[in-house]
Amino acid sequence: MNDLRGKKALVTGAAGGIGAAVVKALRAQGVAVAVADRDVSAVEAEAHLPGNLLEAAYADGLPAAAKAALGGLDIIVNNAGVITRGKVDETTDADWDLSVGVNVQAPFRICRAAIPLMGPGSAIVNVASCWGLRPGPGHAVYCMTKAAIASLTQCMGMDHADKGIRINAVAPNEVNTPMLRTGFAKRGFDPDSAVAELGKSVPLGRIAEPEDIADVIVFLASDASRYMVGAVVEVNGGKPVK
Ligand code: NAD
Repeated sequence: MNDLRGKKALVTGAAGGIGAAVVKALRAQGVAVAVADRDVSAVEAEAHLPGNLLEAAYADGLPAAAKAALGGLDIIVNNAGVITRGKVDETTDADWDLSVGVNVQAPFRICRAAIPLMGPGSAIVNVASCWGLRPGPGHAVYCMTKAAIASLTQCMGMDHADKGIRINAVAPNEVNTPMLRTGFAKRGFDPDSAVAELGKSVPLGRIAEPEDIADVIVFLASDASRYMVGAVVEVNGGKPVK
C-alpha cells in the first residue's frame, strides 16, 4: 500500500526541522534521498546538493542534479522556507525578496524544471502553512507566500495529473522546529516554556513535532494517496487558524 522502496527523492530544507524528519522517514521506507539546503554536511543521505535557493540557476538545476545523482526522480518535497515578521508597513524590500524568493519562486522553479523529468507514479509535495489558508496577524508577507504556494499546488495538481504526476501540499499549524523556536527566542521568550504554553491551545494538547508533519508528507508522496491531487492538507492537531 505504502511501498516506496527503491524510489528516488529530492528534499529541500533538508537540514531544518521538518526537512530532516522527512529525510529520515523517506529513508526508513527504502527511498534514496538527495538533500538540498545551504549546508547539508550533517545530513545522512544518498546524495548531497548544497546551495542557496535564492540563486535561480541552483533552483532550476536541482531536479536534474538529483536525477543524475540518484539515477531517477520520483518524489520532490519542496519544504525549505523562511518566515519574516511584520505588517506590510514594517516589511522591507529585503524581507519581500527573501520570502517570495525562498517560499514561492524556488518551489516554482523546482517544479517547472522537475515536471518534464518525472513520469507516471511520481509525486511532488509542497509545504504550505495553515497561515496560507487563513492568515494570522503581523506576518503579512509570510502568509501571502504560503497562500501562493497553496494556490500553485492546486493549479499544478490539476494541470499535471494527466502525466501521472500528483502534486499536493501540507499545511501545518505550529511545529516544534528551529523556525518556531528562534522566533520565540528573538521575542525574548524561553523556547521550551513557550512551546509547552502554546501546546495548551491545541485540542490534542501539544504543538506538532516535525515527525507528525513528515508522516503526512510521506503519505502524500506514496501510492497510498494515489487519488489525491491538488490537495492542501491541514495538519493542525485540531487547531485551525481562526
Ligand atoms: P527550519 O527553519 O527548521 O527549516 C527550514 C530550512 O530551509 C532550513 O534548514 C534552511 O536552511 C532552509 N532554507 C531557508 N532558506 C534557504 C535558502 N535560501 N536556500 C536553501 N535552503 C534554505 O523550519 P521548519 O519549521 O522545518 O520549516 C519547514 C517548512 O515548514 C517551511 O516551508 C515553513 O514555512 C513550513 N511551516 C513551518 C511551521 C512551523 O511552525 N515550524 C508551520 C507551518 C509551516
